[in-house]
Amino acid sequence: MPENMPENMPENDLVVVTDLRKTYGATVAVEDVSLTVHPGEIFGILGPNGAGKTTTVESIAGLRTPDGGTVRVDGLDPRKHRTEITSLIGVQLQASELPDRLKAWEALELYASFYPSPADPADLLERLGLTKVRNTAFAKLSGGQKQRLSIALALIGNPKIAILDELTTGLDPQARRDTWELVKQIRDSGVTIILVTHFMEEAEYLCDRIAIIDAGRVVALDTPAGLVEAARSEQRITFRVPGELDDAILKALPAVNSVQREGDRMVVTGNDDLLVAVVTELSGRGLAPVGLHTEQTTLDDAFLALAGRNFEGAER
Ligand code: ADP
Repeated sequence: MPENMPENMPENDLVVVTDLRKTYGATVAVEDVSLTVHPGEIFGILGPNGAGKTTTVESIAGLRTPDGGTVRVDGLDPRKHRTEITSLIGVQLQASELPDRLKAWEALELYASFYPSPADPADLLERLGLTKVRNTAFAKLSGGQKQRLSIALALIGNPKIAILDELTTGLDPQARRDTWELVKQIRDSGVTIILVTHFMEEAEYLCDRIAIIDAGRVVALDTPAGLVEAARSEQRITFRVPGELDDAILKALPAVNSVQREGDRMVVTGNDDLLVAVVTELSGRGLAPVGLHTEQTTLDDAFLALAGRNFEGAER
């Protein structure tokens, strides 16, 4: 995204999701999601499994009908303008599978035939490093090659927006890195990217802005640096106390946001006055904290601070 692009200008919003809600029977997949995607950015949708990420992007692509709220893509309602939306958005679906014997170039030619002005299949094969395996059957491709082919299929219609869902799941570290570079190149070629991921590192490395979704809601939306900064403004200290201490005593301090116990350590978060407030309270009670330290903030901590629990293994 150009450095000086003004933030939050309505005319900059390529995708506008407002108060999206989607249920499946008794399951609330998306409770309330609002977000905007600017042209030219890599927009990350990050959250644990079951958070509602796929339902959100499939609603953007017009593949699901929301129960509430609105979705606009380039000003269009995806449910009402199917043809235009299909040309506007290229979707790489999760675990995209093709018939085993279909060759790479055949898959691209086939998909190209669905679009009014497709990209050149040979060109895409070259860009995605698949020219050498153009005659290889889908089943014989490596995991990384299958993944690159599914990205090529998302791009074959010359879309303005590409939705990439869990694109590096199952890839080895080198193939993951290669895919990341590829995604950056695609963005640099002018395609806006919505990237669904549950990998913190991937979101942090690739995305211009990230919406963190948890339990069907956006808990934060900012640049990776902004998210870390927001969590940093929440201080986090850990220590042991020699003796009994009721959590409620610390919770009652105005500087404290949360008190948790990890084994015999106390983990306390709060504002800038946290350290002084806690140490003063403890010493007033004749307790000296042992092994006290403040911790470095990462995107993981941002998630903890925003969602109130650890990201890894966080399931609904
Ligand atoms: P994520 O992509 O973040 O893993 P999903 O959007 O796939 O989350 O799913 C959100 C919730 O909705 C989960 O509890 C999931 O089981 C449920 N869900 C998703 N799709 C369906 C469906 N077609 N029918 C019933 N439940 C669904």
